[in-house]
Amino acid sequence: MTDPILKVEALEKRFPIKKGLFRKTVGHVHAVDGISFEIKPGQSLGLVGESGCGKSTAVKSLLRLIEPSGGKIIFNGVDVTHQSLDSLRQLRQDLQIIFQDPYSSLNPRLKISRSVGEPMDVFKTCASREERRERIGSLLEKVGLRPEFADRYPHEFSGGQRQRICIARALALNPKVIIGDEPVSALDVSIQAQVINLMKKLQREFSLSYLIISHDLAVVEHMCDWICVMYLGRFVETAADKEMVKNPLHPYTRALLSSVYEPDPAQEHKRTMLEGDVPSPINPPPGCHFHTRCPHKKKVCTKEAPKLKEIVPDHMVACHLYE
Ligand code: SF4
Repeated sequence: MTDPILKVEALEKRFPIKKGLFRKTVGHVHAVDGISFEIKPGQSLGLVGESGCGKSTAVKSLLRLIEPSGGKIIFNGVDVTHQSLDSLRQLRQDLQIIFQDPYSSLNPRLKISRSVGEPMDVFKTCASREERRERIGSLLEKVGLRPEFADRYPHEFSGGQRQRICIARALALNPKVIIGDEPVSALDVSIQAQVINLMKKLQREFSLSYLIISHDLAVVEHMCDWICVMYLGRFVETAADKEMVKNPLHPYTRALLSSVYEPDPAQEHKRTMLEGDVPSPINPPPGCHFHTRCPHKKKVCTKEAPKLKEIVPDHMVACHLYE
């Protein structure tokens, strides 16, 4: 069996709440509350949930851009949870990120050659200027752009082209894993499909693993083999992509699906509409965090947090409806 390239065990991130003149800690925000997952080489995993559910904090913690409060991060067999920032060099090279907004991801004053070549300069991966120029040209070709675009500036490109440039930059160091933080949500729907197809093509070509975070289950279903649905810092359901869409079990997942797919008239009675916003993680509802919005809540839901458990093979759900 292949070992995972990225394994996250019981990852936690708490932020202190400080109050008063002396900034005394009076509590904690559990932004990420013990999530676990793994990604094998060449696989892709999607983290889905509304904004504020903790997806971005989870990614920042596993990249060690912020220090996790608990849990383990194992990259390529090495526990990097407590490695010093200096020794994280290999992680920084092997794990690249594509951000949501291609407009702000590129410095408008720098030519594309500078932006795409920057990671190669930092890690000194090219022996000569000629090699660097050729590598940038080849990366641009890989993402469907012409090599001569290297001499242009970001404002000369459309949103979709800029996201392709960001993907080229993410590929510059031959990473093993690419994290996409809402990689297509700032793009028009027609362009989204093109960028998703490009990312899937590159995944096959370079045996990349993807961790895609998105609020849109449809995007994640197109891009990922495995989906984890997150609500207020916890996973509420995890399953393979097709299984999750065909047989969603958690009321929250059903609501997310209802909002992105055309309802099937035969299934209309099963639709779950989400009302209200995600509650504040500063003061999360007791028991099941979702009970304030759940149309199926029972008495126990307000008192006890349901545990994530396997309901059907490889399909885990945290909900008292299945106990
Ligand atoms: Fe709804 Fe209760 Fe299940 Fe939470 S545990 S999703 S409140 S039924």
